[in-house]
Amino acid sequence: MLDGPSGPQAETGTDARILVIEDKEFYAAQLSEMLSADGHEATVIHRPEDAVETLGKDDFDMIILELRLEQGDALRLCAQIRSVDTLRHVPILLLAEDVDTERLARAMDLGCNDYVVRPIDQNELLARCRTQVRRRRYQARLRDNYERSFEMALTDGLTGLYNRRYLEAHLSGLIERIAGGRRHLSVIMLDIDHFKNINDTYGHATGDEVLQEMCARVMKGVRSFDTVARYGGEEFVVVMPETDLSVATVVAERLRHAVAAQPFTVITTDRKLDITMSLGVAEVDVIGGDTTRSLINRADEALYAAKAAGRNRVKCWADDGLVDGLAQQAAANGKS
Ligand code: GH3
Ligand code: MG
Ligand code: MG
Repeated sequence: MLDGPSGPQAETGTDARILVIEDKEFYAAQLSEMLSADGHEATVIHRPEDAVETLGKDDFDMIILELRLEQGDALRLCAQIRSVDTLRHVPILLLAEDVDTERLARAMDLGCNDYVVRPIDQNELLARCRTQVRRRRYQARLRDNYERSFEMALTDGLTGLYNRRYLEAHLSGLIERIAGGRRHLSVIMLDIDHFKNINDTYGHATGDEVLQEMCARVMKGVRSFDTVARYGGEEFVVVMPETDLSVATVVAERLRHAVAAQPFTVITTDRKLDITMSLGVAEVDVIGGDTTRSLINRADEALYAAKAAGRNRVKCWADDGLVDGLAQQAAANGKS
């Protein structure tokens, strides 16, 4: 563990919220008094059976537990606290008598972190509490950092959408799961038309805003269990589980319309901007040996066919090759 300027020593270890589990009134009052010298706020409970519930209600920095509870078993309580996922890391400091060696050893085995022996010396108590609180806060900070960097590795900062790395892993998992071939899965790849012109004419900040507004419209147009990811600069992929090609084409057409029908209002320019995008649709063909790569490639080819055919349109891979999205829709309607 780091112990430099940002290690546990960087935390003060004071002003903590401490749960005191002590069934003797006099000891409890004495402890609270001692702890207040470091700004700690002690919450006292007398019955061990109330501990887990009280701990669940508030965010305590540590627990001080009387080893010699008259009603209830402190060792059992330790084991119980350690078995609750959210409480596994809350430090436990025991209060013991010097003859309690054997029970203390068992308590430490059960995951208690430290102990003080009666008569309690205030300085020792405060020093031991500070150590536990520092460690607890430091670990919480590490966990936060870890979660943040984890999120950063999988999402895109501008749009908040998943990134390409996440998309590829997610899609591989989905394709593996439908290996039987009886279930459907489709993807749409979409790309803004002449986006470079927007950047060149209005600047990059306006371009960014357009991307964000476009994502908002796309997100609104898909179901909650579909995944939208930023695949590249201004290319996005929508993954739609349990969706066949003709439904996916209807969705693509709806997304195209949601972007093209209403001009974009952005704050970095007074002008309303007419934005369009082109879309390519492909359905996974598990029997044909589709992989994440081949599926994405087909959607990409369809997207480029849409660009080549004049942009602001949908192309999809039907049984007999690339066709226009609207034609595919009409054919599907004709069949039903
Ligand atoms: P096409 O219709 O063929 O797609 O033309 P296009 O201009 O959209 O295509 P091209 O791939 O040539 O240009 C994409 C542009 O997107 C180039 C790049 O500068 C811009 N871009 C990529 N990422 C971002 C971003 O995060 N913000 C902004 N503002 N622009 C971006
Ligand atoms: Mg483009
Ligand atoms: Mg592009």
